[in-house]
Amino acid sequence: MKPMQADFVIVGSGSAGAVMADRLSADGKHSVIVVEYGGTDIGPFIQMPAALSYPMNMSRYDWGYESEPEPHLGGRRLACPRGKVIGGSSSINGMVYVRGHARDYDNWDEQGAKGWAYKDVLPYFERMESSHGGQDGWRGTDGPLHVTRGPRKNPLYHAFVEAGQQAGFEMTEDYNGEKQEGFGPMEMTAWNGRRWSAANAYLKPALKRPNLTMVNGLARRVIFDGKRATGIEIARGSSIETITANREVILAASSLNSPKLLKLSGIGPADELGQHGIEVLADRPGVGANLQDHLELYIQQECTQPISLYSKLNLFSKGLIGLEWLLFKSGLGATNHFESAAFLRSKAGVEYPDIQYHFLPVAIRYDGKSPAKSHGFQAHVGPMRSKSRGTVTLRSADPNDAPVIQFNYMSHEEDWADFRHCIRLTRDIFGQDAFTPYRGREIAPGDDVTSDEALDNFIRSEVESAYHPSGTCRMGAADDPMAVVDPECRVIGVEGLRLADSSIFPRIPNGNLNGPSTMVGEKASDHILGKAPLPPSNKQPWINPRWETSDR
Ligand SMILES: Cc1cc2nc3c(=O)[nH]c(=O)nc-3n(C[C@H](O)[C@H](O)[C@H](O)COP(=O)(O)OP(=O)(O)OC[C@H]3O[C@@H](n4cnc5c(N)ncnc54)[C@H](O)[C@@H]3O)c2cc1C
Repeated sequence: MKPMQADFVIVGSGSAGAVMADRLSADGKHSVIVVEYGGTDIGPFIQMPAALSYPMNMSRYDWGYESEPEPHLGGRRLACPRGKVIGGSSSINGMVYVRGHARDYDNWDEQGAKGWAYKDVLPYFERMESSHGGQDGWRGTDGPLHVTRGPRKNPLYHAFVEAGQQAGFEMTEDYNGEKQEGFGPMEMTAWNGRRWSAANAYLKPALKRPNLTMVNGLARRVIFDGKRATGIEIARGSSIETITANREVILAASSLNSPKLLKLSGIGPADELGQHGIEVLADRPGVGANLQDHLELYIQQECTQPISLYSKLNLFSKGLIGLEWLLFKSGLGATNHFESAAFLRSKAGVEYPDIQYHFLPVAIRYDGKSPAKSHGFQAHVGPMRSKSRGTVTLRSADPNDAPVIQFNYMSHEEDWADFRHCIRLTRDIFGQDAFTPYRGREIAPGDDVTSDEALDNFIRSEVESAYHPSGTCRMGAADDPMAVVDPECRVIGVEGLRLADSSIFPRIPNGNLNGPSTMVGEKASDHILGKAPLPPSNKQPWINPRWETSDR
């Protein structure tokens, strides 16, 4: 068999990896191999937006990870889905599109990720987007990633936004534009009725080029000659093979699998590697540290009018929705149903939003399990900047073993006060006049759950991951001992190896992470190709003039 080799060898075809596969192969000058363990994304479970709760529960598409027992959540193990399919997690996610707040990126820059401030990353968000309905002048209009808005036909979407206004909060027509703060329409990565994953947006068109090849296999480790990465070892079926990189190896295997791969390759905390008999190539204590996520609660209310999506949850209705989608790519199958949103500040003195709301006109869990037995509506709500931090460590030196994922959710005292506030704030919003024609009994937490203690019990037993693990290979200054990659995404301590995906975020951004991960793939591509970064933007984000004295 011909030995496999290319100029660039990328591991992972997800939100960041697919972008790099496209951008690095675009001018035809370099050969690129992208290695992906998952398979095809063909079929309605992935392509039909409304089917979003299926692929995250299917072992065919999901790595099937879960957290270790979480000590502050009564020892619960939380599901931690990750895409195992072309397009990675962008092929199994909820399709909600959020760039994050300008200040998130300024914070990255302050933490040592120089050149990743808002002014630096905004041009990359613009380059990647084709926005349909966003704020003029603030959004990209000819990038590969189509971003759309739902039709917002259900009156409950409007009741939510109106309730926010009645409660005295800001409105925003485009939280991905100048002003994140406020209530308004939510955006999604869906286009022409289909999920617009990184595979659909970037990978599949790029694979038509002769200089880009996809190889199906499990990357086991990076191979080095001294300190220089020269390729990767992969398992394909029962054989172990090598892929040689003439120029660079690039890891984009996600915040859970990228730190695992680094450690299996000898880059990580020396004591942990020693415990597993792995020879240390670079002692980097930051690999697998700094794990962050967003948690959320579902606050559910009965709806007194038969207008919620509850009547569409039976098999017959689902069949009709599926048929319309198959024939025309339209109807209730063509949306993720997250069509209204809010980004709020929890208190006076918080400069920019630290709470996110997703609103759904039905009472159901994200994973589609245990829907309420009546018409209802719900908010997914959670704080955005928890101080809790966790770790991703090795279970063993066997590449087939799942990593050990310990989030330490709710380990910071402020987490509890923040979540209690989120529940009470949601009750305030659902209690506004806009909901009077619809508001029934509170399903969850329940009208009698009011004391701090009762709320804490509800939080402990019900809080769920929003599926945003990140930060486990933090970007920072090359002389920062806890940084794993430098601001050009080079893995510190070795040569010829980069890492660019959701694991490099110094701190989790304000919103869902597909957009920021895609942006990382875009900007990293320019660094890898040695191109000058796009010229910085001089646009200034809207900051609430009352932020020091009011939460609204
Ligand atoms: C269920 C769910 C819902 C979500 N909802 C949203 C949402 O609505 N909006 C949003 O913005 N974000 C959402 N997210 C988060 C977002 O999708 C991810 O943060 C983002 O896709 C991460 O991108 P990534 O490039 O870091 O990794 P991924 O996209 O996960 O890509 C990693 C790729 O590497 C491959 N890989 C890993 N290890 C190996 C190996 N050893 N060998 C070969 N291949 C390997 C994987 O199979 C995968 O394809 C959700 C995530 C999940 C799981």
